[in-house]
Amino acid sequence: MRPGFMRLARRSLPCALGAILLIAAASCAGGGGETEADAVETPEELEARAREIHERVITADTHKDISGNFAPTDGSDGEDPNERAGRKVDLPQMREGGLDLVFFVVYVGQGQGNLDDEGYTDALGAAMSKFDGIHRMVDDLYGDQIGLATSAAEAEQLAAEGKLVAAIGIENGYPMGDDIALIARFKELGAGYMGITHNGHNQLGDSNTAAWYGTEEEPQRALHGGLSELGREAIAEMNRQGIMVDISHAGKRTMLEALEVSQAPVIASHSSVTTLRDHPRNLDDEQLRALKENGGVMQTVALGNYLKDPAPRNEAIAALREEMGLPAARGRGGRGGRGGGGRRGGTVAEQPELSDEERAEREASQAEFQSRVAAEIDPEFGQANVQDFVDHIDYVVDLIGIDYVGISSDFDGGGGIEGWDNAAETFNVTHEMVKRGYTEEEIAKVWSGNLLRVWREVEEVAQRIQSEEGR
Ligand SMILES: [Zn+2]
Repeated sequence: MRPGFMRLARRSLPCALGAILLIAAASCAGGGGETEADAVETPEELEARAREIHERVITADTHKDISGNFAPTDGSDGEDPNERAGRKVDLPQMREGGLDLVFFVVYVGQGQGNLDDEGYTDALGAAMSKFDGIHRMVDDLYGDQIGLATSAAEAEQLAAEGKLVAAIGIENGYPMGDDIALIARFKELGAGYMGITHNGHNQLGDSNTAAWYGTEEEPQRALHGGLSELGREAIAEMNRQGIMVDISHAGKRTMLEALEVSQAPVIASHSSVTTLRDHPRNLDDEQLRALKENGGVMQTVALGNYLKDPAPRNEAIAALREEMGLPAARGRGGRGGRGGGGRRGGTVAEQPELSDEERAEREASQAEFQSRVAAEIDPEFGQANVQDFVDHIDYVVDLIGIDYVGISSDFDGGGGIEGWDNAAETFNVTHEMVKRGYTEEEIAKVWSGNLLRVWREVEEVAQRIQSEEGR
């Protein structure tokens, strides 16, 4: 056990001082033999130490979305995982960033009101094509570089062989429809986890998105009030098959009921902390305490909007635009505040009749705007970055301990922050944790140890259930 003051040091002291304390603590812990020269670690030394730790631990990201045509082998256009083509995760970037294990996600959205046979059939087809793509990657195309892990032991084995590791997560239980037997099929296909819901309540339970159904005047806030009866059966079957239950995207009631029903620990494959960012996709303290009780793990997600409220920045940008007489930003960002003044002219591209002079003037004011954003807004209202991300990890550690928190990106599905915006930048997360005084043992837990522990326990529960049935 580390002394309590280290935890304080992690968040509130500048890193140089934190590093000194860390070394002091290591000396106190009985290392002995340290000389005066060991007492100060320079930033370069700290970075070098962080790189060694990053190299040694298994780094796992539990959420990378894939496109509809993943790893095609028929010559069609699609996502080639071995090509750097502007996506946030591919094999070259995984290697460059030292990202060892990635859960490739079989995601299927459900639209609204499609909880019927036709909707389920379409969703199952879409899910199967994503399973197929992941299998093409590991079986047909790049098996020399990346292998599929269907258990914690397989993940560790592949990593030990120096291979990249793929695992499979299913986002949204919608594609199973009302057919419990499909869960065994998903397990055969290598599914490591399955989420209960995505956006919108489904046949298994209520989502965090209340009022997805119904009309604007009469929103239907709840469909089941939590887990449905089928949702309970699905969790029992996931326990029996050894598939981790993923509660990200589930409504709070659904999440808490899933923890009551599940015989095995659960994961939140990509969620962050409500206290630091009040968003229904995140977990509040009651949920985090319940997760600890359950023995599960929250995989902190590097998606800006779940880490930090974007509203103050958006408002500051809108105010600056107004002050400079620039048209309001297009698309999202103004946060729906209707009546905030009309748009004063379109983009340059929309007005080809602009004279060279006018065009130059527009470009100059745009450049001035950008530099004022950098000078006046970024320092006070920065975008979510790696520090914000690790703040969420710190929070969970302080509230429920080091054993219940992990890491996910949601890359290629909305994730990506300043400093960890693609797989190639993965080291920055380890670097930040080392700066804050996390030990190698703790970093190993956060990067994959906790997740693999849960996965292993889920497998053990499945073996127990199946052997009890066999008696
Ligand atoms: Zn998601």
